[in-house]
Amino acid sequence: MKPAPLPAASTLDLDLGAVVANWRLAAALAGTKAAGVVKADAYGVGMAQVGAALAAAGCDSFFVARLFEGVALRAVLPKARIFVLDGAPPDAVPALIAHNLTPVLNSLAQIANWQSSAPRDAAIHIDTGMNRLGLPPDELATLVGESKARLKGLNLVLWLSHLACADAPDHAMNPLQRDRFRAALAKLPPAPASLASTGGVLLGRDYAFDLVRPGLGLYGGNPQPGRPNPFRAVARLTGRILQLAHVDASGSVGYGASYRPARRILVATVALGYADGLVRALGNQGKAAIGGALVPIIGHVSMDMITLDVSSLKTPPTLGDAVEFLGHTISLETLATDSGTVSYEILTSLSRRARRHYQQPSTEGAR
Ligand SMILES: *Cc1c(COP(=O)(O)O)cnc(C)c1O
Repeated sequence: MKPAPLPAASTLDLDLGAVVANWRLAAALAGTKAAGVVKADAYGVGMAQVGAALAAAGCDSFFVARLFEGVALRAVLPKARIFVLDGAPPDAVPALIAHNLTPVLNSLAQIANWQSSAPRDAAIHIDTGMNRLGLPPDELATLVGESKARLKGLNLVLWLSHLACADAPDHAMNPLQRDRFRAALAKLPPAPASLASTGGVLLGRDYAFDLVRPGLGLYGGNPQPGRPNPFRAVARLTGRILQLAHVDASGSVGYGASYRPARRILVATVALGYADGLVRALGNQGKAAIGGALVPIIGHVSMDMITLDVSSLKTPPTLGDAVEFLGHTISLETLATDSGTVSYEILTSLSRRARRHYQQPSTEGAR
């Protein structure tokens, strides 16, 4: 007989229908084709689940960062185009070939190395000002001057560059990088081009080129904080109340006795902590939501527990109630701000021990 499933102390609900809707929205806003960026386990949401849902909706191109991520995604998606942003260092070449992965080549040396065997697909990353990854200006000049020889035998499927300041719509770097990218493309053999991540998608169609590369937006994040977020929330993190107890004005709450109530309060202890991605900076700072009402986090965040002052609730909560830290009431942006970080880091840190529930996209109108 199968044992009954254990009750879960914390739950992470992940809406794959929202991921698919966000992917469609990115393509519609850009007016061009959209890939799916699924590096870092799809920003913590789950690469296998996200990859399968996007592919079922018609997405045929994916980006990962690491080689092993590409290998893992290939096992899920036998036919998709999978770009590996880390490129093709010599020791990665055998696995790139074996798993039919497309490297995003980052240097003349990588181009030469990838070119030296049989003709194969490649993308090339041109650095237009971020100074992080991709061909720097001197290597680009060499490539432009000797493109016939340097690209011989390669089947170039994508020119790529990446914006440094797409989170700031008015930043002068945006048009500067776009124009540098355009100028480079004009001097290079033709192939589809890609510049925009989620922030770039929101900069307008000037930035769209042939393929956009949304990551954060797929998972409900807003790449331009302070502006309206057009993307649907994907993740909801809740924990259950383990204990409810009154604390008098003479008492204190949690490690370091950092919270001392001004009067008698009702404290709820919830089964989520910094080991679930709710960072310590939220202590005496962040909020949670119970039945849609906000309550403050009091005391330090522990590894497994968080304490809340629930005295303000009209109906006192009961043991086992679900408390939201991210979701309908508390947005990714709010949680990120209260945590002193960006929504990217909230997502990639999301609990690995909360029980995950994936909501599949409804099949109706899926194509
Ligand atoms: C991570 C990444 C993306 C996706 O960026 P978002 O801001 O999450 O949309 C796109 N392109 C490259 C090169 C990246 O590294």
